[in-house]
Amino acid sequence: MKRKQCTQCKKKKALTRFHLHENGRHSQCSDCRNAQGRARYKKNAAEKIRKVQEYRKQQPIKYRARSAVSSAIERGILIPQLCEHQDCKETKTEAHHDDYTQPLEVRWLCRRHHRAIHLKSKL
Ligand SMILES: [Zn+2]
Ligand SMILES: [Zn+2]
Ligand SMILES: [Zn+2]
Repeated sequence: MKRKQCTQCKKKKALTRFHLHENGRHSQCSDCRNAQGRARYKKNAAEKIRKVQEYRKQQPIKYRARSAVSSAIERGILIPQLCEHQDCKETKTEAHHDDYTQPLEVRWLCRRHHRAIHLKSKL
């Protein structure tokens, strides 16, 4: 059986322990690659949580308003509408709050128009 040395753990392993990719086989064995993938996944997950927490801390009212909207959509209380710009062809819309203390008082805008409104009002 053909063997190949892993550049990571320096162990010689059967060729089948190395995953194929476009240019041949990876230089690291699948055990090392799996371990790396897990570490990266963990790091990403931690990073995501940290970002959410930071966002929550900075914008508690905004955050609450947004999560109120998504749970209202889930429960069918709020139904996403077309962009309020009638000539807008975009069908995917986001809820915009004129007043974050009124979480279910929203305007529906596509991403582009939504962004435009925030740029104008500098919210
Ligand atoms: Zn290895
Ligand atoms: Zn908005
Ligand atoms: Zn639009």
